[in-house]
Amino acid sequence: MAKEAGKNRYHVFDPDQSRRHQDRMELLSAMEMALHQRQWALHYQPRVDLVSGTVVSVEALLRWHHPERGLLMPGSFMDDLIGSELEPRIGRWVIEAALSQMALWHTQGLKIGVSINISADHLLEDGFVEYLEEVLDRHPRLPRDQVECEILETATLKDLYQAGSVIARCKQLGVRFALDDFGTGYSSLAYFRSLPVDVLKIDRSFVKDMLEDPNDLDVVESIVGLAATFNKDIIAEGVENMTQAAMLIQLGCRHVQGYAIARPMVAEVLSDWMRQWHKQRPDLSGYHGQGM
Ligand code: C2E
Ligand code: MG
Ligand code: MG
Ligand code: MG
Repeated sequence: MAKEAGKNRYHVFDPDQSRRHQDRMELLSAMEMALHQRQWALHYQPRVDLVSGTVVSVEALLRWHHPERGLLMPGSFMDDLIGSELEPRIGRWVIEAALSQMALWHTQGLKIGVSINISADHLLEDGFVEYLEEVLDRHPRLPRDQVECEILETATLKDLYQAGSVIARCKQLGVRFALDDFGTGYSSLAYFRSLPVDVLKIDRSFVKDMLEDPNDLDVVESIVGLAATFNKDIIAEGVENMTQAAMLIQLGCRHVQGYAIARPMVAEVLSDWMRQWHKQRPDLSGYHGQGM
């Protein structure tokens, strides 16, 4: 503190900073209230195999029905949530809600897998594995290999070794793991090497520009190659048009997710959407890439 005397000595009284702190505290308490008032919801975005045409699974995405501000996306609350005590509590709600929904779909005959986003803090929290097991046990008939946990490669770096062992224990329960937003972190390869994941998710920033920027195309191609070499599954996110989809198939990535296929939707409309998709899905079978 003494060292900081002089120019920065008033830093602790920064009114902007204290306002930001207060705003965050208010937002966090509203988010906690939202748990009690059932304002949290999950929307589901389909992921398809473009070659076979099947709907492979859906990704559960968190939404907040804010009483005044309407439907809020993670971009407007996630930064404040991360690192708070509330984060694992909401994380637990997400796991319970997603698995209950998946169980309901399965009893209705809609045998679809669900991908759940798990924050690093939640994954590394004491008791995470036991908790996941407890929720899975509540749904004994669910095929656990259709439950996938997505983790961001950015945050777990704090403790890669621990993250690796937690993931390995979760995998003993039968669930799968994906590295989300792959290629965007500083240490993608370190993650890849240390974490026993099953799937790499190519980040949408690469997909977005790959048709114009040859570097991004190279990155996508390299990630697909890496996945193939190490026997991992691969999926691309943020696919917004069929030209990107066709290019991805050619590169060897046939599993995609993005607005070109469907926006995230409420659970109730998924079966209708699937019926539509099977009737009208685009025919990309002519684009078979190498190795298929
Ligand atoms: P993510 O896991 O990478 O999820 C994909 C995001 O891309 C979603 O944004 C989705 O709506 C959006 N997206 C999908 N297709 C397209 C497309 O074609 N174009 C564009 N521009 N965007 C597309 P969303 O729902 O706003 O979520 C943002 C991030 O918030 C997620 O990124 C994930 O990191 C985090 N998140 C969402 N739900 C949860 C959750 O339940 N728990 C945790 N810990 N994080 C979550
Ligand atoms: Mg994700
Ligand atoms: Mg992602
Ligand atoms: Mg992303």
